Amino acid sequence: MQSAGFGVADAQRRDTADPLAGWRERFVIEPDGPIYLDGNSLGRLPVAAVDEFATAVRGEWGGELIRGWSHWIELGREVGDLLAGPVLDAEPGELVLSDSTSVNLYKLAAAALSARPDRHVVVVDQDNFPTDQYLLQSLAAERGLTLRPVTADLDAGLDTEQVLAALDDDVALVLLSHVAYRSGAIADLPAITAAAHEVGALVLWDLCHSAGSVPVPLRAAEVDLAVGCTYKYLNGGPGSPAFLYVRRELQAQLRQPITGWFGQADQFEMDSRYAPADGIDRFLVGTPPVLSAYGARAGARIAAEVGIEPVRAKGMALTSYAVELHDAWLAEHGCRLASPRDPQRRGAHVTLYHPNAWQLCQAWQDAGVLPDFRTPDRLRIGLAPLYTRFVDVYEAFHRLREILASGSYRSYPVTRRRVT
Ligand SMILES: *Cc1c(COP(=O)(O)O)cnc(C)c1O
Repeated sequence: MQSAGFGVADAQRRDTADPLAGWRERFVIEPDGPIYLDGNSLGRLPVAAVDEFATAVRGEWGGELIRGWSHWIELGREVGDLLAGPVLDAEPGELVLSDSTSVNLYKLAAAALSARPDRHVVVVDQDNFPTDQYLLQSLAAERGLTLRPVTADLDAGLDTEQVLAALDDDVALVLLSHVAYRSGAIADLPAITAAAHEVGALVLWDLCHSAGSVPVPLRAAEVDLAVGCTYKYLNGGPGSPAFLYVRRELQAQLRQPITGWFGQADQFEMDSRYAPADGIDRFLVGTPPVLSAYGARAGARIAAEVGIEPVRAKGMALTSYAVELHDAWLAEHGCRLASPRDPQRRGAHVTLYHPNAWQLCQAWQDAGVLPDFRTPDRLRIGLAPLYTRFVDVYEAFHRLREILASGSYRSYPVTRRRVT
């Protein structure tokens, strides 16, 4: 028996009322393809990107050859400026595409530490994404600094009070994620940033799961530094270049350690001595991946056109619907919500705990649904607002309920694959 209010007709009604429903057409979606619940690992392909890639490859690379650089040299700035107003609360000239998130984390963390030479402590979240932790571990070792960990709850996220308690005037830098990659919990960015400034520390926010899913008050909260991916909710394509943000007032004071020629004041002067460019360009390093930057631009254009507020509203509606279905259908089969219950406190993904999550993940994939598995025992369900429908959530959860009720997942291997 279908529980009242949770039939497919109800999901369809929600789709009919959805003001963002039409944006789905802007993405390449195979009619018989899987239900995609992993847009926060790799966003979908924008339709416009297909032609833009073709023009870039055939026309610019194939036809214009080296002259193509007249289109390419400003791409990173162009995409940064596209994101600046409508997607991330920044001004033009504060955001630029460059390298990967990992490399940008290194550059900006090192620049911040060099700007606070008399301080010896870096506050980090012990449950942050591994790359953030690894980079800080080696930076700290190189410079003889101490990492001061704060422990985030796997499901509830960071406890603001605990972060504030870790701050004192020996802290040079605070590095945290805005939206937790595992649970989707949102950190209190304004409060933590203000408190860090009060003790004279700089703050670097990782926005990988925020950019294109929730508003990020970069200017309003006077955030110093930020980095993030363009291949997740911004739909830039596999390996598309990351962005970095440096508050304008800080740009002239900071020096990053990877002093390549794209960060040079007058790049084509070919001077033998490094002098950092004015503005955000000093955080660039070398020749960018132009084709991938076109993907990032196609995704950023869509995000900029929609604006972040309607995306946030739909993200909360989708995750709330998923939580309702979980409570009605899945909780009785051993699932537990592993994300904050309050939609204001989570991003656009929800995570479910189940002791056999990896087996469930494989069975769900065989049933035509693509979620994500995250250690130790969690199904991460990304509900990218631009193209995920309520009927997708309905259908996916319906299939998961069948898998749980029948126990069919028990025949799947317990050992994990290389990529989960
Ligand atoms: C996805 C993700 C990254 C990825 O970094 P790359 O350098 O692009 O591999 C970093 N941090 C967080 C929080 C992420 O979610």
